[in-house]
Amino acid sequence: MKIGIIGAGQLGRMLALAGYPLGLQFVFLDQSEDAPGAQVGRIIRGAFDDTQRLGELADAVDVITFDVENVPVSAVETIAARKPFLPPVRALGDSQDRLVEKTLFNKLKIPTAPFAAVDSLEDLQKAAKKIGIPGVLKTRRLGYDGRGQFFVRKSADIEAAWKALGAVPLIYEGFVDFRREVSIIGVRSTAGETRFYPLSANTHESGILRYSIAPYRSASLQRQAETHLKRILKHFDYAGVLTIEFFVKRGRLIANEMAPRVHNSGHWTIEGARTSQFENHIRAILGLPLGSTSPIGHSAMLNFIGQIPTLGNILRVPGVHFHSYGKEPRHNRKLGHCTINVASAGARDRALRQLVRLKMGAD
Ligand code: AMP
Repeated sequence: MKIGIIGAGQLGRMLALAGYPLGLQFVFLDQSEDAPGAQVGRIIRGAFDDTQRLGELADAVDVITFDVENVPVSAVETIAARKPFLPPVRALGDSQDRLVEKTLFNKLKIPTAPFAAVDSLEDLQKAAKKIGIPGVLKTRRLGYDGRGQFFVRKSADIEAAWKALGAVPLIYEGFVDFRREVSIIGVRSTAGETRFYPLSANTHESGILRYSIAPYRSASLQRQAETHLKRILKHFDYAGVLTIEFFVKRGRLIANEMAPRVHNSGHWTIEGARTSQFENHIRAILGLPLGSTSPIGHSAMLNFIGQIPTLGNILRVPGVHFHSYGKEPRHNRKLGHCTINVASAGARDRALRQLVRLKMGAD
């Protein structure tokens, strides 16, 4: 059985690494010959909207999935008619536009920050008046890892925000004074079986995920997150892994965004859960029985961004597992991560502090 993955980034690479023990093979579509997936599968070189290359991928595999969200829907619709394409194209399309995504959340009674579409400076002035300042102006499309965002802290920032981002359709959101950020990862198979991982608590800096701690135990928040995620899975008749990121404010969840794919905040599941998010995604799109999502002990995941400390120093940290993505170092580039998996929350926090110190030394 061969699986095609659009995008050969680290997520695609980890999907393939999880699929090999199941006897599966992988072919990627990516513009770059030396993308992280290249070391674990064949790469068909091409842009994500190159219908000829997409067709080549479809011919070479039995099922198609993706590891990135910026795959043009109109291009993949052609191959989705020829080979199973999962998660559904509709989920991919809706998650590409923050306005569509947040409108869907609200339709499904999933709380969000107040938001408004912004297509002109006047729209922005009106939105800031109605929703209030502080707020965040974001591009509707192609924003990730904090790119395409401008925090409006005072009225004088409005014009600067418009100048910085105004060339494309935007959304203005109320600023959420959150206590913490969490994400839930769920998985639904083509046979309709559904499972949820425990919440992960995520710390971002400049919009990029730095580290996650899991399981983050809160029965009430877990229940809310599962209820919200179930509605999305049902809405799309979904298959595969889906992630929702939330803000936590006064014990309630406020949805920020969803990703119709495996997620950085779920990397801890490779060592910290009975079945990783990557293996469960593959099981789900093939209609195989899903694996247990129960956590094993306590885990933390730390991203290496821009630089990686010396391997020997990383491996000295108790309970650590290291994952390199095989990328050339570059500013703000996710190059790898490590997971700590230990028996107690105290030992996890000690090891995480040790790793953060190492990382700061490398920066
Ligand atoms: P995003 O690109 O929407 O995932 O945002 C990246 C990060 O920016 C989030 O994880 C938050 O830390 C912060 N952020 C985004 N939107 C808001 C908001 N409406 N209020 C407060 N912080 C936000």
